[in-house]
Amino acid sequence: MNIHEYQAKQLFLEYGIPVPDGKPTSASENAAEIAKLLGGESWVVKAQVHAGGRGKVGGVKLTKNSAETVSLSKAMLGTRLVTQQTDAAGLPVNQVLIEKTYPIERELYLSLLVDRTSERMVFIASAAGGMDIETVAHETPEQIQSVKINPITGLQGYQCRLVAYSLGLKGQQHKALEKIMQGMVGLMLEKDASQIEINPLIVTDKGELMALDAKINFDDNALALHPDIMAFKDPSQEDDRENIAQQFGLNYITLEGNIGCMVNGAGLAMATMDLVKLKGGKPANFLDVGGGTNVEKVCEAFKLILSDHNVKAVLVNIFGGIVKCDVIAQGILAAIQEVHVTIPVVVRLEGTNVEEGRVLLSNTGLNLYAADDLAHAAEQVVALAGESA
Ligand code: ADP
Ligand code: MG
Repeated sequence: MNIHEYQAKQLFLEYGIPVPDGKPTSASENAAEIAKLLGGESWVVKAQVHAGGRGKVGGVKLTKNSAETVSLSKAMLGTRLVTQQTDAAGLPVNQVLIEKTYPIERELYLSLLVDRTSERMVFIASAAGGMDIETVAHETPEQIQSVKINPITGLQGYQCRLVAYSLGLKGQQHKALEKIMQGMVGLMLEKDASQIEINPLIVTDKGELMALDAKINFDDNALALHPDIMAFKDPSQEDDRENIAQQFGLNYITLEGNIGCMVNGAGLAMATMDLVKLKGGKPANFLDVGGGTNVEKVCEAFKLILSDHNVKAVLVNIFGGIVKCDVIAQGILAAIQEVHVTIPVVVRLEGTNVEEGRVLLSNTGLNLYAADDLAHAAEQVVALAGESA
């Protein structure tokens, strides 16, 4: 789960990581008052969306006039921001963060993430901050320093110094950086974050370090342990269909193709998508309806798949293990009728009572095709999607 910059900065403060003085608002008329309360001589208005790259597309605006924070906020609120990190539809701006500005001497990059290969937390640091780190890694890999943390010994002082040297920091800044790095490790471990990114981490004209931007991603599987983090959830920033799927215990991810897939089991879902691609088609989604599926779940799954208007045909691939195939077939029939599915649906069932299931699915008068093996089912659905497109 992602959270907003202003929420991430609240957490940073709890963990001793310095951030600019600022306050979020969803009402543009409050902006000037916030600016005055913050004090200083200039402010930034920052669109709060779950994506970076805002600066380049007008989602971060600077002003020396506190009254102007109102018009800048007004221009952002209620719009959708499209950045390099969003899709073409962008994300809705429902809040802006008003912040004091700080004179920037240098912009650095610092992040902490989980490296699956070494099974360690790893710091990534670069003196080339404020830029897209993937570009830096690609074009000037020598500008990137990484440090892996041993889970037994934890983050060591010498590792912080190594990063500080690589960032060109001096004197008191070493201690300041160590405090920030310790804070990041504490936050990651205690709140089950999977990634914390500060880009840019700035050196101010007074030589102080400060996190000017903040991005945190949390491990969804650990969220149940952290009601405080769950409270940060903002469904407006997430895919509508994925939100609905979550409510029904369906594992759904929107993709770009035109063949809807309904499968039980994540492994079988992956294999099904592979086969669709192999036969020249493109899946519109990943959808695992789970092991003990029922009519209600199958109905909701159909509704989800059909709410994507790119979908031209559906492939149902279900293994009847815990639930018998005839029960699944009844569920599919009920769902097709209830949801008024008119596009072609290819069904491949396998497992217990498969024959009874197939009988139920044949001669229904519906736009339904019962396939006997998966390769054939994939071929058929690709052809049908091509016809109805
Ligand atoms: P994004 O990564 O989405 O573009 P950032 O928060 O990194 O957004 O802001 C983009 C740039 O705007 C920063 O690199 C920095 O130069 C400037 N900026 C952002 N917040 C402040 C601030 N409080 N004071 C001064 N400059 C800022
Ligand atoms: Mg940034």
